[in-house]
Amino acid sequence: MRQEKRVALIGGGLVGLSTAYAISNRWPDVHIDLFEKEDRVSAHQSGRNSGVIHSGIYYKPGSLKAQLCHEGRSKLVDFCSREGVVFDTCGKLIVATTPDEIPRLQHIFDRGKENGVRCTLISAEEISEFEPHATGLKAIHVPDAGIVDFPGVARRLQAILEEKGHSIFLNSPVDSLSESSDGSFLTSLGRSHAYDLIISCGGLQSDRLVKLSGAITDFQIVPFRGVYYELTAEARHLCSNLIYPVPDPAYPFLGVHFTRMTDGRIEVGPNAVLASAREGYSLKTWNAHDVMEAVRFKGFRHLARNHWRQGLTELHRTLSKNAYLKALKTLVPSIRAQDLIPCRSGIRAQALRSDGSMVDDFVIVEQPHIVHVCNAPSPAATACLAIGDSIADRVESRLN
Ligand SMILES: Cc1cc2nc3c(=O)[nH]c(=O)nc-3n(C[C@H](O)[C@H](O)[C@H](O)COP(=O)(O)OP(=O)(O)OC[C@H]3O[C@@H](n4cnc5c(N)ncnc54)[C@H](O)[C@@H]3O)c2cc1C
Repeated sequence: MRQEKRVALIGGGLVGLSTAYAISNRWPDVHIDLFEKEDRVSAHQSGRNSGVIHSGIYYKPGSLKAQLCHEGRSKLVDFCSREGVVFDTCGKLIVATTPDEIPRLQHIFDRGKENGVRCTLISAEEISEFEPHATGLKAIHVPDAGIVDFPGVARRLQAILEEKGHSIFLNSPVDSLSESSDGSFLTSLGRSHAYDLIISCGGLQSDRLVKLSGAITDFQIVPFRGVYYELTAEARHLCSNLIYPVPDPAYPFLGVHFTRMTDGRIEVGPNAVLASAREGYSLKTWNAHDVMEAVRFKGFRHLARNHWRQGLTELHRTLSKNAYLKALKTLVPSIRAQDLIPCRSGIRAQALRSDGSMVDDFVIVEQPHIVHVCNAPSPAATACLAIGDSIADRVESRLN
């Protein structure tokens, strides 16, 4: 009798859930166990992000980010339409507010065209047709960007997997990982489990899972905490949809933006400051193990030495509402301090090499019976279904 193959997923974020979903669609006979250490899915990055469906305009042509964001965007929109998850392809503006940003805006526009993204360059006058309160010199309109309820996507993926008979184990941290010549093993809550294949999608913990399995890599996850404000109900008219600044190529993930959420609120943010705990969402949270691990890492010390000035600016923006407001005013000059209410924070998992450089693209590390998704920063939520399919492609020979 043929034995059913068994696959384990570690991590109930959008990447882990989407990978489980792709495997369940392609191999209906494979049984999947998904281990999540928290009491719910999407407890970390997947449930604490900006809720934006990215178009793929920013990313280096040919990169995994460019390819999987483009494919993932349409897969996500189809999934949400089919499964009744709230989304809106409302479009977005990327606004240049100073002359030196115009060549960078043009560069993004050219990249967008190369990546097959629908986009149009618009004039200062046209900006106000889309966003009456935003001002700038020139902008890109991206009609296929949008907003989505990412925790809703995660919950729907969880329900589909459970309906198909797969197991989602919550409150179940994985604390050891190993492989032999014909399979892989993990332990959780003191019990050992054997699988044909284990796929780890641990987000902020992904490098630790790689180390647990004995694989050697040159990078470590560095957590960047970003705080959001929300606009008071009276100030919501200041943003219709999505208003973004032109990113600085040296710090592409910096730059606070205005985001209409799917529940109608308008959030602004996030900024990005090195976090004193990988999963500590309050400024006061401090995890000695996380801090010591970062400080001992050569790459972190390089980063701190080379980018301390930018780091202090971002920290100032976290501690001072006025500094935060100044950044917002460049896009929407009429916004006032009293329009902003502090709301929440999120922590980005960013892989850093030992030379201090940031790993830009998605990274997947493969062992014979263990696959690790190691660097899945933005736009991995948008791209999650395409990432899941691409991992299913990679493990095809191991599951057939
Ligand atoms: C502030 C912020 C804003 C962002 N905005 C956007 C956006 O607008 N659009 C977009 O596309 N992307 C955005 N992103 C990026 C996006 O949210 C992430 O790329 C994506 O959610 C990554 O998903 P993941 O499943 O890899 O990680 P996560 O969602 O972090 O999931 C990893 C899971 O693994 C679990 N885990 C870890 N270790 C273990 C273990 N040992 N045992 C069991 N479980 C474990 C964790 O508890 C966690 O639930 C943003 C990210 C942040 C932080």
